[in-house]
Amino acid sequence: MSNKPGLTVLAGPTAVGKGTVSTYIRDNYPEVWLSVSATTRAPRPGEIDGVHYYFKSKEEFESLVAAGEFLEWAVVHGQNTYGTLKSTVNQAIAEGRSVLLEIDLQGARQVKQAVPDAQFVFLAPPSWEELVRRLVGRGTESAEEQQRRLETGKVELAAEPEFDHTVINDDVRRAADELVSLMGLTPHPRQP
Ligand code: 5GP
Repeated sequence: MSNKPGLTVLAGPTAVGKGTVSTYIRDNYPEVWLSVSATTRAPRPGEIDGVHYYFKSKEEFESLVAAGEFLEWAVVHGQNTYGTLKSTVNQAIAEGRSVLLEIDLQGARQVKQAVPDAQFVFLAPPSWEELVRRLVGRGTESAEEQQRRLETGKVELAAEPEFDHTVINDDVRRAADELVSLMGLTPHPRQP
């Protein structure tokens, strides 16, 4: 698969705000084609099949893996499986869209193998302390799980040099604007 005109991969440590930045982009930048991943995780309230994820059973996911349908896939946080379907991404690239994948680090490394000329962007926290604050502050994980993710976070932060660019998520809109600029698009003017 080649990267013409534009496949960008956004990855970064747990709780850095990849989901928030990509949601902002989905809501504000229709010119970006944000890939919809497949996952075995159950939908959260408000999540729509085909919009936020393609929700699959473990068996369905496994048969897609066996059929070679994924550009990349990974078990994330040792729990659920997530993957990017080749068919959807190929179609968007063929249509000349600017494609954005928001995936975890393991997935980013697989895309690097498959599409070396894609653009890889690392979303970084303003500081380690801020990452800890965000992870603890969102209160969605148990203390034990938080500890486990912080350990993972340390390892993930060390992956930054593997990426072409780093965007610091100090402010969601600013970070999203910087990302779309890196994708060769024009950030929207801001309201005063
Ligand atoms: P969540 O369950 O909170 O929506 O996402 C959990 C994690 O899964 C995030 O770190 C997100 O980047 C990652 N993720 C979402 N979609 C994909 C995918 O298609 N491939 C990979 N490798 N990771 C994904």
